[in-house]
Amino acid sequence: MLLSGHAAVDIRRAIGDPVAFWHEAPGMSEAPRILLDHHLKSLKLPTFLREYDKQARICVGDGIDHVGYLARLTELEMIDRERRLVERRIKQARFPTVKQLESFDFKAIPGLNKMLVLELARSEYVFRRENVILLGPSGVGKTHIALALGLAACQKGLSVRFVTASQMVHELIEARDEKRLLRLQAQLAKVSLLIVDELGYVPLSQTGSELLFEVFSQRYERGASILTSNLPFQEWTSVFASERLTGALLDRITHHVHILEMNAESYRLRQSRSRQRAKAG
Ligand code: ADP
Ligand code: MG
Repeated sequence: MLLSGHAAVDIRRAIGDPVAFWHEAPGMSEAPRILLDHHLKSLKLPTFLREYDKQARICVGDGIDHVGYLARLTELEMIDRERRLVERRIKQARFPTVKQLESFDFKAIPGLNKMLVLELARSEYVFRRENVILLGPSGVGKTHIALALGLAACQKGLSVRFVTASQMVHELIEARDEKRLLRLQAQLAKVSLLIVDELGYVPLSQTGSELLFEVFSQRYERGASILTSNLPFQEWTSVFASERLTGALLDRITHHVHILEMNAESYRLRQSRSRQRAKAG
């Protein structure tokens, strides 16, 4: 939109002499302000819009010139934009709960490669499109680590999707029945990090196995994945309907992979046992 009439003159005068603009602001015509607000909304600069008055007062007080004022506003906008992106990423990831590495007790599971977990939390493997497989019995913290790595990737601004294996198969079958399988497959292929939790708890049908395989096949070398399973690799054939599919899947996901073995006693079980001991003693 071209500026015209008094509003344009007012704005130019204001831009030419920002200090005068700030001092004149209360008494001056409302037109430039209305225009500015409108433009900031169109340009999607909500923080700029919210802050420009307050920062103008602060800058006058601190003797900061108009370049400093604008630098401050644009920086605030960028910080907020990053925060909004991370919030959006976390929402889109659909984590069932929020878990962080800070609350993970590495001492409880001495066999786990802590250095590797900390390295993975830097999310470089996501950029390199590598995979992570977490193996171990129930209750040892596989989901906890997977969620924490997912959150770390969101904080880097990466797109993440968290889903259990059976939920994903359910979603894929539903999408196929509703003739929107291609769209869902495209969505799943596009995320930077796909986390598939709990592979192995529920055996999959032939169709389920094939659909799950297709997802990993489409993501091969295009995106990173995290898989958790209570079963060692040798037993994965019991989950998938065929040995051929299991082999093909393992072949793809283990090509660029970090394996975290978490063999310990269930953390939950140990905690409830120590609580009982405390009660008894
Ligand atoms: P898994 O996925 O291996 O079955 P979870 O990650 O669901 O295990 O862990 C079960 C519960 O115990 C969760 O609430 C998790 O946060 C907690 N937990 C497991 N291991 C640890 C650990 N080493 N430190 C802190 N909390 C843990
Ligand atoms: Mg789990």
